[in-house]
Amino acid sequence: MSTNLRIVLAASEAVPYAKTGGLADVAGALPKALAKLGCDVSIIMPRYSNIKTGSLFIENLSVPFAYKTKNCSIWYEKQGDVPIYFVDIPEYFWRDSLYGHRDDAERFAYFSRAVLEFYRQLGQPIDVIHCNDWMTGLLPVYLRTNYTHDGFFAHTATILTIHNLAFHGMFGLDAVTYFGLGSYLMYGEKGLEFSNVASSLKGGILYSDAITTVSKRYAEEIQTPEYGFKMDSLLRQRRYSLIGILNGVDVEEWNPVIDKHIAANYSANDLSGKEICKRELLKRFGLPVDVKRPLIGVISRMTDQKGFDLIMKIMNRILETNASFVLLGSGSDSYERYFQALRDSRPDRVGVYFGFNNSLAHQIEAGCDIFLMPSSYEPCGLNQMYSLIYGTVPIVRATGGLDDTVINFDRVRMEGNGFKFYDYKAEQLLERIYEALIAYNEPEIWRRIILNGMTEDFSWDVSAKKYLDVYHTVKHHVGN
Ligand code: ADP
Repeated sequence: MSTNLRIVLAASEAVPYAKTGGLADVAGALPKALAKLGCDVSIIMPRYSNIKTGSLFIENLSVPFAYKTKNCSIWYEKQGDVPIYFVDIPEYFWRDSLYGHRDDAERFAYFSRAVLEFYRQLGQPIDVIHCNDWMTGLLPVYLRTNYTHDGFFAHTATILTIHNLAFHGMFGLDAVTYFGLGSYLMYGEKGLEFSNVASSLKGGILYSDAITTVSKRYAEEIQTPEYGFKMDSLLRQRRYSLIGILNGVDVEEWNPVIDKHIAANYSANDLSGKEICKRELLKRFGLPVDVKRPLIGVISRMTDQKGFDLIMKIMNRILETNASFVLLGSGSDSYERYFQALRDSRPDRVGVYFGFNNSLAHQIEAGCDIFLMPSSYEPCGLNQMYSLIYGTVPIVRATGGLDDTVINFDRVRMEGNGFKFYDYKAEQLLERIYEALIAYNEPEIWRRIILNGMTEDFSWDVSAKKYLDVYHTVKHHVGN
């Protein structure tokens, strides 16, 4: 299968230019991995006011929008082998935050349309436009309606990746025509109406040639009412075009062999540095430097999604064992108060740090023995993958990407890389912690679990190949 497809990745954010979540990591890393596989890939995103680099590429690009043509300019620079284009229109994107504005749907509808106009002007036929979340949800809608008779896009397919199903990109139904879409797109089977307003995400789900989300398990879960954010029936309708592809890890940033944030480097072949990391971490948190005692870590935004209520319910039970506990968390006052009080009452066994601290996140991944991630839902999750790479055994709830990446350890086959539980129940989490602590006291078994995790490949190379398969499939569907 030839790989020299021309791919455009359209996103509202991409590392290193703008980031509010995992979408930016994917938009920054996936194109580089695709370029390595031989794709001709470019990224296009808005030019926010913080983006000062690049050079002017097109001065006045006219984009039909809101009953008229509205001009933007296009800026350009290269990230390694990957060209990146920026849509510059100050009235929409020179703001103090990426999202949260009254006219968000309009801003990104414009962006979506500008992407199509720009590539048409560039004049190199595109095989696949890869859209991301609600912000580019209307792009496939424009393509399959306003541009149906445009020969330039006759062989262009689209895919939509859902990173966050919670945001639907809502706007008033009256804006459908304002955005330059036909009024027939308001209602009906192919309409954008969703709970009495219009949804950009719904547009993307209906009109893209394939939909992906960030893990296999999550692709199944979002088709159920429990995880579907009311989009489940729509996603069930499209289930044959919906697939899960796990996000990769930036293995230049998260790799104990070369990590600059940690006290000593180590690898699967020589784990001795890990004990040095543990020693330093215990010191860092003012805990007794007793390296034989198991050390359990958590790094997380402190939100309900991450399972803090479960951890709190069994915290005393955890401290009855001989384990110590460290937390790096940011977010919620009530959780913060609880864990601060816990630290105050058990300073010999509990360490806490509230706030965002990337170096400390690396040090915890390297220095702990066990990592907890009992999320209620988790589309992909990164920390459990970092834990596996750093030889820190994860205990997770079997949901989304956690279920895809963590395999229960099987003592008979000596297979598996961690421990997971199924129902969102504190007693099940505790059961797994007990099981892990038993294994921790059996050095040969523990070493096996650690090595099973450390020898897996979580790099973007693996995920990029799967995206490439999807691109070929949709390309085949629209015809060559
Ligand atoms: P989510 O995107 O839902 O927050 P993930 O596990 O996918 O969860 O990714 C979280 C990322 O944010 C990881 O890179 C993790 O190390 C980092 N992170 C979360 N909280 C903190 C914090 N308080 N300090 C430093 N890094 C954090």
